[in-house]
Amino acid sequence: MALISPESLERLKQTADIVEVVSAHTDLRRQGARWVGLCPFHEERTPSFSVDAQEKLYHCFGCGVGGDVIKFVEEKEGLGFTEAVELLADRYGVELEREQEDPRAEARRQRRRRLEELLDRAASFYSSYLWDSKEAEKARDYLAGRGLREEVLRGFGVGYAPSAWDTIMLRGQRAGFSVEELRGVGLAQRGRSGGEYDRFRERIMFPIRDRRGRTLGFGGRAMRSDQGAKYVNTAETDFFHKSQLLYGMDRAKAAIAKAGRAVVVEGYTDVLALHQAGVEEAVGVMGTAITGEQVAALSGMVEEVVLALDADSAGQEAMLRAQRVAAGRRMRLRVATMPAGEDPAEMIAEPDGAERFRALVEAAVELNAFQVGLVLDRTDVSSPAARDRALAEVAPVLAAMGETASRDDLVRRVAEGLDLEPAMVMGRVVAARPATGGDEPPGGGDGRAAPPPRRAAELTSRERRERALLAMCIALPQEGTEYLARLTDAHLSPTGLRAVAWLREHPEDPASNLPRDDDELAGLVSELVLKAHEEPSSHEAMELNFLLLEQRRLEDEIAAAGERGDYERRAALSRERAGLVERIAHTQRPAGTV
Ligand SMILES: [Zn+2]
Repeated sequence: MALISPESLERLKQTADIVEVVSAHTDLRRQGARWVGLCPFHEERTPSFSVDAQEKLYHCFGCGVGGDVIKFVEEKEGLGFTEAVELLADRYGVELEREQEDPRAEARRQRRRRLEELLDRAASFYSSYLWDSKEAEKARDYLAGRGLREEVLRGFGVGYAPSAWDTIMLRGQRAGFSVEELRGVGLAQRGRSGGEYDRFRERIMFPIRDRRGRTLGFGGRAMRSDQGAKYVNTAETDFFHKSQLLYGMDRAKAAIAKAGRAVVVEGYTDVLALHQAGVEEAVGVMGTAITGEQVAALSGMVEEVVLALDADSAGQEAMLRAQRVAAGRRMRLRVATMPAGEDPAEMIAEPDGAERFRALVEAAVELNAFQVGLVLDRTDVSSPAARDRALAEVAPVLAAMGETASRDDLVRRVAEGLDLEPAMVMGRVVAARPATGGDEPPGGGDGRAAPPPRRAAELTSRERRERALLAMCIALPQEGTEYLARLTDAHLSPTGLRAVAWLREHPEDPASNLPRDDDELAGLVSELVLKAHEEPSSHEAMELNFLLLEQRRLEDEIAAAGERGDYERRAALSRERAGLVERIAHTQRPAGTV
């Protein structure tokens, strides 16, 4: 396969009707040059989402998302770039040209296609073995005993791995795959003596697929109690990353998008049982905790995630990370408390189980309230040491909520429950804020999650000023080049700095090739282009915004010199600032300065 040529991408963006595409997800009204509506990516009552039909861009001034029509389709339909392009090309009748590319990339893709084919073949072998072999009879009985019907088992591709040591090894090699490839997808493993054998034997096999339905790995459930681990998963491979996948996503995505909600359970059979009972927005985590990456994968599709898993035993740290990712994406995380000792699959198997489960989902409580409740419940209030420990435990939970009304409610509840002054609890919450301050990236260590976009009101005055100036640099490109050259690291916020680098590299047409792998930057560039297109720009306004940023820079340097004890430098800088303030006072305030 080859790359889609930049020319045909450009033609596609010009041809596709972004207003029409977006209108499928939210109602848009024309307002001057732009179209506005309620944001389809976050919950809101007043519209802050705009589409610029001329620039072919969308941007939400509420949650910061933004991009072109391809990006919109990727996000909203849960597609990869190429698939989004192909879908739009198909819909708007644009012929895509492809061009040759780096042969190594082509080789990598070919290898990947082969491995996918290998996994597909293995999955269909396991599935037919489950239904057709004598050996799998006990597995069929077990699944039927759990109340699972053939139709749902087939839909999820459930299968059975024979007990022989080399079934997949032999079949795979006979079909032309190498031992290295079999190991590469985690189907074979090397024994102590150096020989390879099947990783999955005598197990019920659950194919783990991505949201597009491609099998990436397996979970295998033991049939005998003396068989080692009850569950064995595919080891992490080049493209199987358990922490990024949700089991059943391929079957659940439509229901999830429709309900605006995902129900997250723990086990494979829980997911199957729920789908069978009509709770089709159910997906599974393949561990006890939901990861920040899994939360991020659901964002854009849902406003809320209900965890019907054992939140008591799930790692507190992992929950906090998930919660921070959710907070940054304007998603609610709630917990449905399962009755002790009962899992969703067991509940669903009972006569009125499905209704009971649905009622639990509806009654789910906010994750942070749930966690605080757990701590309060088990604290012996008569012991000062126990109250101290409880406070230390809840402070990070509350801190992760940001400055919200529900956090303040919980602070009061904690103060009451532990018999403390609310101000003292609040003090601990503020102190428990992550070290990087309000801007801490959600997801902590787990990489892929982007920092939360911030609402306009949360921007600092420096950021508002820098955005006003950068928008004008786009509106008036000639002067813009000059200001882009004058701006230095010391003038700019970290995001501003990245936007400036982008504008310097793409002076002609900053929005025509938005970065695909950097949502924050894509959102910011879209915002700037939209602003440039409709807010007044003038040389005077640019100069004033620049001078105000310059003043900020001087103030930072003055403070730094003071901290170093370099009073001579501080005095010189202060004189410089006085001159600058004078100039600012004599510059008249045109429209567009903040
Ligand atoms: Zn939004």
